[in-house]
Amino acid sequence: MEHTADSNDIAIIGGGICGLTTAIALEQRGLSPTVYEAASEYRPVGAGILLQTNALLVFERLGIADRIQSAGVVLDDTRILSPSGRVLQRFDLDDVERTYFDYGYVAIHRGDLQRILLDELDVEVRTGKACTAVDDTDSPTVRFEDGTRIHPDIIIGADGINSNVRDAVAPETEIQARDTAVYRAVTTCDLPGQYQSTGLEVWGHGTYTGGAPIGSDRFYWFATVPNRFEPATSNRQNRTDWVREYYSNFPEPIPTAIESFGSDDIITTGLTDVPKLEQWYRGSVVLAGDAAHGMLPFAGQGAAQAIEDAVALATALTTRADPTAAFETYERERKQRAGRIRTESRWLGSLGTTQSYFAYRARNVGVNLLPDSVVRYVRRNRITNTSLSEKPIGDSTSVPWSG
Ligand SMILES: Cc1cc2nc3c(=O)[nH]c(=O)nc-3n(C[C@H](O)[C@H](O)[C@H](O)COP(=O)(O)OP(=O)(O)OC[C@H]3O[C@@H](n4cnc5c(N)ncnc54)[C@H](O)[C@@H]3O)c2cc1C
Repeated sequence: MEHTADSNDIAIIGGGICGLTTAIALEQRGLSPTVYEAASEYRPVGAGILLQTNALLVFERLGIADRIQSAGVVLDDTRILSPSGRVLQRFDLDDVERTYFDYGYVAIHRGDLQRILLDELDVEVRTGKACTAVDDTDSPTVRFEDGTRIHPDIIIGADGINSNVRDAVAPETEIQARDTAVYRAVTTCDLPGQYQSTGLEVWGHGTYTGGAPIGSDRFYWFATVPNRFEPATSNRQNRTDWVREYYSNFPEPIPTAIESFGSDDIITTGLTDVPKLEQWYRGSVVLAGDAAHGMLPFAGQGAAQAIEDAVALATALTTRADPTAAFETYERERKQRAGRIRTESRWLGSLGTTQSYFAYRARNVGVNLLPDSVVRYVRRNRITNTSLSEKPIGDSTSVPWSG
């Protein structure tokens, strides 16, 4: 049995985007958390991810935005297209994001992002440590699948949408499944010049597909696929054949990207989100990232919100008088904003995946007619409200509540 007794012993359960970013933010503020990750090792696998301006602003605070931009592709614009290739909306990222906030969007391979976050850390990241339960939130014990236990002072549950730590904070939570899956793949292909710095979404009838370049010859593709197509997509080979056939007449670079991937390349994920939780903490246990507010991917904000959580939580823990006050401050700062974006993502998901032909046509006409002023307002507003730490990073703080 492992036992820890330091009064500022912090265990982060889950070493994904949220857990690692939280560890960096805490370390930069003079604390030494330990990260416990279920996977037996970190491997450079997975899909791509789009980091929007608010995520990059947080990474700037942590001093790693430049590294992230260099490892990914800094996009010039993103576009919403109809299946015939008509541009329904174009977001020129110089126009709002870079002009007012210095950062646009970066498309990056998840493995590359993970490597940068791990490189930034000096604290211990222990792999092969799957948490099975947290007992007694006031004087908590974490139990792991390998039979070991720890007794940290504070537990940060960053173990994703199917969080086990959440059972100790909000045991009644049932994650909500949608009748749609997402397919994702990273392909190696020669993209024509005009697609090398453009992110795109194609809003089709019943499906929502798109992607972005994540390197000079790498493209990250995604598509939503309603569960009714399951019989045609039940194994790897017929799934790939179905995808090629279904999207063959979609606008480029979708067909080119799809042609270049093999039958093992598609990652399939069922779409789920976490309902609003009454509280994000109980006793000495607090939730962050998808564990607290896992959302549908349509706003492209799940990771960005997890990254905002990381700095807000680290700031609260290093500036408030005791952990309870810190958790209250963190929850106050983050819960409403993350909840609003989760609702927005649901709404976009309903619009984006509608199965009704009439609603699909009306949606695409409506998106095309949206006034520029409204679109610009929404884009600015989301970034203006980013939860950023008020305290300068790099200034190591004494921890008020540590003994
Ligand atoms: C299809 C899709 C596309 C998306 N695209 C975007 C996008 O473009 N932009 C964006 O901002 N967001 C996007 N998201 C959302 C984003 O992926 C998540 O919000 C983000 O990964 C959340 O980070 P997290 O660290 O909270 O959880 P996770 O990334 O799920 O990480 C959790 C970590 O905890 C570990 N873990 C799990 N259980 C345990 C356990 N019991 N014990 C110990 N460790 C455990 C896992 O192995 C993992 O490393 C997308 C999501 C989906 C499904």
